[in-house]
Amino acid sequence: MSFNKKMFALGNKRSIIREIFEYSKIRSAEIGADKVFDFSIGNPSVPAPAEVNDTVKSLIDTENSVSLHGYTSAQGDALVRAKIADSIRSRFGVDITPNHIYMTCGAAASLSICLRAVIEDNSGDEVIVFAPFFTEYRVFIENAGGKVVVSTPVEKTFQIDISDLEERICENTKAVIVNSPNNPSGVVYSEETVKALCEVLKRKSEEYGRPIYLIADEPYRELVYSQVSVPYLMNYYDNTLVCYSFSKSLSLPGERIGYIAVCPNMTDGKEIYLAVCGAGRSLGYVCAPSLFQKVIGECLDAKVNVEAYRENRDILYNALTDYGYECVKPDGAFYLFVKALEDDAYKFYEKAKEYEILVVPCDDFGVSGYVRIAYCTDKSKIVNSLPSFKALAESYGI
Ligand code: PLP
Repeated sequence: MSFNKKMFALGNKRSIIREIFEYSKIRSAEIGADKVFDFSIGNPSVPAPAEVNDTVKSLIDTENSVSLHGYTSAQGDALVRAKIADSIRSRFGVDITPNHIYMTCGAAASLSICLRAVIEDNSGDEVIVFAPFFTEYRVFIENAGGKVVVSTPVEKTFQIDISDLEERICENTKAVIVNSPNNPSGVVYSEETVKALCEVLKRKSEEYGRPIYLIADEPYRELVYSQVSVPYLMNYYDNTLVCYSFSKSLSLPGERIGYIAVCPNMTDGKEIYLAVCGAGRSLGYVCAPSLFQKVIGECLDAKVNVEAYRENRDILYNALTDYGYECVKPDGAFYLFVKALEDDAYKFYEKAKEYEILVVPCDDFGVSGYVRIAYCTDKSKIVNSLPSFKALAESYGI
């Protein structure tokens, strides 16, 4: 067989989330969708804000169709980038310009581009990820030619363990990826954690005489509950690249729209931005979807109904902890990270399946013995699943 075996392997083996999602469809056809409690996939369950649909309609009705659907500049529409820069400036006080923004197809493309932009060919460059981490990081890092290094978290809180991080940084460390609010734990890294992280990165960058890049993966930035604030990492560390996405913040995952923001104070910032443009070009990610660039340019202040997710979180967290499950209370995103009721999370997942509950075993996320519950579903599904979660706990004698 004369083709790329690594790519074949990636295509041939679906992610466990996709496997479970496919099983869910089959099982739903067998016993009815209302009897299957599928908490596998992070697909937003609240609709996009009305402004989004109104803007789509109005752009189609009023704009010239050829230019509306035509190519934009490779790095994105200049006016849209200007609006995003204005929004970042006013929300976070960062003095950023349109020439620091690169429009992309969601956070997945942003991450792939940023990694390709900073990792040097055949260099042994390493990228540190903080467990638990989004499984696709491994795919993106390795595809960019980097090596994945996993930093273990603080037990129970799942904050970054700064001393573990420090031990793992070495001459080869090119970047770290931070994802807060976190998939799969729902944890928001505190300002204290962020400051400590940035202090280590600054010190180590000085020691090695070159920057260690901080890649902030931020699809869940707007999905936070209570009064929790999510520190904007450019305000703490100059060598930051933000990968933002509207997939969750505006419930638009299928529209593939997001952007990269390069910190204006970055060392060699102009060159890094050009490397981002080059990586976008080499990966074929030029000119993000044109219609949706223009839509989000009009909807930067729109909001989805985060309250619906908070309500789901509260119902599920309160019930599960009452039944004896252990989990950290998530401050953001729409995931609950629950300790399996036996050591092997995969066996626990199989057992939960007998109760028609579909959760994701998290070994591939870098933490064993846990499962992820995506509570971005109808509230009724959560309420109806509770007796099954209770019965599942009781089956373990809890
Ligand atoms: N990063 C994390 C942590 C995610 O959970 C996801 C999607 O679920 C992505 C990146 C990719 O998001 P996008 O749809 O913007 O490509």
